Amino acid sequence: MKITFLGTGTSQGIPVIGCNCDACRSDDPRDKRLRSSIMICTDNYRFVIDSGPDFRYQMLRENVKSLDAILYTHEHRDHIAGLDDIRAFNWVQKRAMELYAEPRVLKEIKSKFLYAFDNSYPGVPKLSLHTVNEQEIKLGDMSIQPIRLLHYNLPILGYRIGKLAYITDASFIEETEKKKLEGTEYLIVNALRKEKHPTHFNLEEALQLIDEINPRQAFLTHISHQMGLYREYSRELPANVIPAYDGLSFNVD
Ligand SMILES: [Zn+2]
Ligand SMILES: [Zn+2]
Ligand SMILES: [Zn+2]
Repeated sequence: MKITFLGTGTSQGIPVIGCNCDACRSDDPRDKRLRSSIMICTDNYRFVIDSGPDFRYQMLRENVKSLDAILYTHEHRDHIAGLDDIRAFNWVQKRAMELYAEPRVLKEIKSKFLYAFDNSYPGVPKLSLHTVNEQEIKLGDMSIQPIRLLHYNLPILGYRIGKLAYITDASFIEETEKKKLEGTEYLIVNALRKEKHPTHFNLEEALQLIDEINPRQAFLTHISHQMGLYREYSRELPANVIPAYDGLSFNVD
């Protein structure tokens, strides 16, 4: 299983429009962050988690020629609003895109992309919707365990796929849900900035979760320009933690 970080930024991305901070002016490519998403590929199946506003460019950058499904964490715009661009895959693959999300998120997709469900209008995105609850689901050969997270007061989903777990936009995880992360070897978790934030883990809270789960390797994602410069904050982390950056990939056996 190969994992690729398509984007690792918070909702505004980095650079932020009109911002003059060090991170936004940095010419280190690791300081340029599109909206958060990962791609997971096996020999015969490829899917992404979330399709934010940068989805089109992410597919072009990674030279993706086919895509089997999109699995959603939640309905915020930085996670769904590139959905219209799946039309390219509809055209090439001659079939609807398979979308997996919990009922509230599917409802939100139906209302925000109402035109996609109008079969009488030509050229609209073709979507096939599948409901995710808290039970394990199957995508290709992979078994995926949803993990319930809180994003302030919004219940959202993270996912455990074998040795890998992807947690984004969390600000709280119940102990019973943390149990589902036991034995994770590769943990991806959101870390917005150093200061506390009401709706996302800050760096300290992300590191605390990593310490509890104790994966072989942890990656930070959904990072804000307020975190500062990659070359500075990446030096201050425990040995098994690296801040992810766009385009980074790794294999999970
Ligand atoms: Zn987000
Ligand atoms: Zn900035
Ligand atoms: Zn969010």
